[in-house]
Amino acid sequence: MTYSNMPKKVTPTSIQKVLAKIRPAWMARVGHEMARGAEVRADFEQQLERFFDLLQQSVTTGDSAWMDSILLDWAKSSTETDLEEEPYQISFLINRMIALTIQVARETLTKQQALDLLAAVVPIYTYGLEVVARYEMETRVAHISSEMEKVQQRMERVDKSKSAFISVAAHELKTPITLIEGYASMMDDLLQQGTATSLDSLLTGMNTGIDRLRSIVDDMIDVSMIDNQLLQLNFQPTQVALMVEALCLEVATTTRSRKLTLDVKDFDGNKQWIYIDAARMMQAMRNVLNNAIKYTPDGGTITIDGRTLSGFIEVIIRDTGIGISAEDQAVIFEKFGQLGNVELHSSGKTKFKGGGPGLGLPIARGILEAHGGTIWVESEGHDEKTNPGSTFHILIPARIESTDPKMAKLFDTLGKNNDEKVVE
Ligand code: ADP
Repeated sequence: MTYSNMPKKVTPTSIQKVLAKIRPAWMARVGHEMARGAEVRADFEQQLERFFDLLQQSVTTGDSAWMDSILLDWAKSSTETDLEEEPYQISFLINRMIALTIQVARETLTKQQALDLLAAVVPIYTYGLEVVARYEMETRVAHISSEMEKVQQRMERVDKSKSAFISVAAHELKTPITLIEGYASMMDDLLQQGTATSLDSLLTGMNTGIDRLRSIVDDMIDVSMIDNQLLQLNFQPTQVALMVEALCLEVATTTRSRKLTLDVKDFDGNKQWIYIDAARMMQAMRNVLNNAIKYTPDGGTITIDGRTLSGFIEVIIRDTGIGISAEDQAVIFEKFGQLGNVELHSSGKTKFKGGGPGLGLPIARGILEAHGGTIWVESEGHDEKTNPGSTFHILIPARIESTDPKMAKLFDTLGKNNDEKVVE
């Protein structure tokens, strides 16, 4: 008898017997070696039982395709979750199973039985390996292509945003420049004519334009400082209530003229002294408050509320305005994220829907993050008829000690000395 004609003489029934004989040892070995952790093992054992049943089925029928269902199930479940880290897990698993089957066969069967068994199952394993490797490779290729597509889309978006930003910035800067030019030429005319009228109103107009220019340029500088992590914070003790009060005074004329109600609540924590950069924090809250004013139709309400959370004070600015779609909520805090239609941009700081350069919220987020806090928005969507409103949450770390390193060091040593004294 030669090895090559041996499988022909081996009947499926005898192989079935051999398979049944090694089953317990095979289950124990493969289960133990391949599934770490009791929970994983229980589930994995079930899978192995199924695998072995199908292996037996394939041997009996001589058709390896019986293995397809379980192989694809395995390949799919792993490729969906672990594509990034270990793309060829199932191929590896099957390779390992072949090695373990050989081990178990050698330990539990006679030499002849082992040879018969391997002659029957190795082609099935090899088939399995091919199926899985092909599937894993295809999935990997699809994954890489979709990643590349995403990167490309992101690059296209950045590219588009950059040029849109330049258009918006140019437009935003042009409006006040035109205004200043207009007033300057009027002044020139008046001076040439020697008319003795007061230039006050013209100067006021000019100053409005200059202020607007300065504020746009300041925003651009702030964004670049945030981007380069150069934002310097000057921590001073203050209260949220003081900042809110000052902001309400700032917007009082606008809210009055736009018939907006400003409802400021007295909430827990708003009078707590905390160390923050009050000027920067006010800038962040101002950007949010000005937006609430801008995107709420006349007659609406803006509520400033809040609460204390462990280690934080949360300021909540809610409006009854046009709301923000889920899609936009994901991008409005990103620089260049929401630029909308360039044509709609005007230099209106507070007028209804007066677009800006789209830097207010990225700056607010940069300031909050530099403090160790965060900002997010909730809105049921954008609807200019039903006005679902938007709610901005501003999470401010409630530091009750100075972050000045020298001061902190001083407190630290004082603290340590006290501890030592207590130990003594
Ligand atoms: P902008 O200068 O355009 O106001 P922001 O960064 O301050 O830039 O805001 C980005 C965008 O987010 C706005 O253009 C607007 O579409 C949307 N947005 C911000 N706040 C609100 C709000 N309270 N209600 C509706 N939309 C808002």
